[in-house]
Amino acid sequence: MELSYVQTTCPYCGTGCSFNLVVKDGKVVGTAPYQRSPVNEGKVCPKGLYSHEFINSPDRLTTPLIKKDGKFVEATWDEALKLIAEKFKTFKPDECAVLSSARVSNEDNYAMMKFARGVFKTRHIDHCARLCHASTVAGLANIFGSGAMTNSILDIAQSKCVFVIGSNTFENHPLIGRKIMTAKANGAKVIYVDPRKTPTGKQADLFLQFYSGTDVCLLNGLMQEIIKNGWENKEFIEKRCNGYEDLKSEVMKPDYSLENVSTVTGVPVEDLKTAAEWYAKSGATAILYSMGITQHTTGVDNVKSCGNLQMLTGNLGRPGTGVNALRGQNNVQGACDMGALPVVYTAYQKVIDPAAHKKFEDAWGFPDGIAEGKNGYEVTVMMDVLTDKPGELKCMYIMGENPMISDPDLTHVEHALKSLDFLVCQDIFMNETSVLADVVLPATCFAEKDGTQTSTERRVQMWRKAQDPPGEARLDWQIIADIAKAMGYEKQFAWKSAEEIFTEMASLTPSYAGMNYERLNKPEALHWPCPTKEHPGTPILHGEKFGMPDGKGLMTAISFKYQTERPDAEYPFLLTTGRCIWHWHTGTMTRRSENLEREEPTGWVEINPEDAKALGIRNGEMIKAISRRGEIQITARVTDTIKKGVMFIPFHFVECAANMLTINALDPIAKIPESKACAVKVEKI
Ligand code: SF4
Repeated sequence: MELSYVQTTCPYCGTGCSFNLVVKDGKVVGTAPYQRSPVNEGKVCPKGLYSHEFINSPDRLTTPLIKKDGKFVEATWDEALKLIAEKFKTFKPDECAVLSSARVSNEDNYAMMKFARGVFKTRHIDHCARLCHASTVAGLANIFGSGAMTNSILDIAQSKCVFVIGSNTFENHPLIGRKIMTAKANGAKVIYVDPRKTPTGKQADLFLQFYSGTDVCLLNGLMQEIIKNGWENKEFIEKRCNGYEDLKSEVMKPDYSLENVSTVTGVPVEDLKTAAEWYAKSGATAILYSMGITQHTTGVDNVKSCGNLQMLTGNLGRPGTGVNALRGQNNVQGACDMGALPVVYTAYQKVIDPAAHKKFEDAWGFPDGIAEGKNGYEVTVMMDVLTDKPGELKCMYIMGENPMISDPDLTHVEHALKSLDFLVCQDIFMNETSVLADVVLPATCFAEKDGTQTSTERRVQMWRKAQDPPGEARLDWQIIADIAKAMGYEKQFAWKSAEEIFTEMASLTPSYAGMNYERLNKPEALHWPCPTKEHPGTPILHGEKFGMPDGKGLMTAISFKYQTERPDAEYPFLLTTGRCIWHWHTGTMTRRSENLEREEPTGWVEINPEDAKALGIRNGEMIKAISRRGEIQITARVTDTIKKGVMFIPFHFVECAANMLTINALDPIAKIPESKACAVKVEKI
């Protein structure tokens, strides 16, 4: 039998690498390079290379499952759909909540958003962007008028100075890491700011090892040094920004003298001085950040501070510059664009805007209307409502998410999900969340569907079907439509293909209005905004003006605040969490990949050698890590790459789940949890 090759897009990180799936006898058996993608040029990281390994895992869900007497029993689709439709119909508007997914396609997310607002008539829809870049969406929209990465991935190679803060790019977005190396090879300086000397930090020209959570203090300090030396870009500020005097009066306070900043952050004064000079004088500096910036109770402040620094130095709207928020999951940008959020329809059209509400209500034509034009609950708030306001939320429909590993304070999450009257999970594997469900529905993975995803750089790319789904598994959008039809909404969910959904979505979504499958079906695809069929797409935002009503960026005074829970005598260490190169988020896919699991078969806690010595802990020893929320047993990894007083645990591993320890403290605007800073202690077992 001959091999065939189907070009598609990687299901893991937001870089959006293209590769071929190799198909033999109707089954995906491997991956092969696809050379024409301008982003990855035929290269992939280990996750992409082995992304075929989970597809045909024997663990795949192949039939609907209904829980009877505490045990799952196989069911037909007719039985499952009938039960779900009957139960769903018993709930009133806003008693149901929906978690959509950054792992599925734009079309799947659009279908789920329409289902939530049109069938459930609920305001409560969200997805895991809440846990990674909700601060970016809120923060950048507030200062630039658009909450997305401003420049393109290719563009990073043109930078003269790359400032990476709170992003282990080389492990979590490795093919973006290659662009940093290209910039460096062309003479750019690389500045790395993180509590850990990660593989990214090892490539840096200057490493600022700071305490997690002190971002605003450090960024304000750099801005003070820049203004003191007259290195700010006066012309850019004058022409293109508001709020400079407010910003200046804040950052020039004595609190942000480099001496004070050094005390708070732990970074030497000389290194801060060098960073400020390189940053301001390069001619083209790009900021790259990820969850180290966003996952804090000050996440929105942190994001705005990155924007302040770029406006102050005029590093926006040009190649090699920008605020480059590196989105986590492959389609987290797209899931946000599709309105899988509690405050917007597609393309950030606000639900509280009566004109937007009417537009969607009229277009969809639900005879009994759609959810009220009011903001709903974020996923983190849903969990609090479930535990604190019994009876307000009664039902949840979760597609392709696993909050029982990904969300903060897992004991709290478990308590919340167990209080539901009815829980439906739709996924490709049974996971730690779906075991709590009443009904589990078997869905399809990226290799089994056509559709689109939107990468971190706003590039809308194609997925292409390479094999049939296993057993009775169905497409995500098809399952949503089947439930809707069983509830009497035949006409609104009559799509026959993903392309039909895309066409409907684009007709309601200004930034996607000029896109169709024909235009997307080429290696470079299109970056949104792409408002007309003739528009070439927009790789760089804010070239002439910002997306604010007056076209100007908004510089904002941000004062430094510490995180919610600081180390103390009882819990003396600062815990930060993150990911590693071999695994992806809650591990449902990568831990079923033989090659990836072999490289890193379980979790660990990183401890600085001085701390380990004081505690009498040896490398490789099993220890207890304890916070005020819970405790886990985990292997100690003693390493001088972590700052003294700080510990790090990757969050992929259920057997030593970092989120047993993390705190459910939220940014007041973005409602993102503080996954990057809480207090812990460790004990020998
Ligand atoms: Fe996939 Fe990201 Fe690796 Fe590219 S860098 S192959 S998108 S995981």
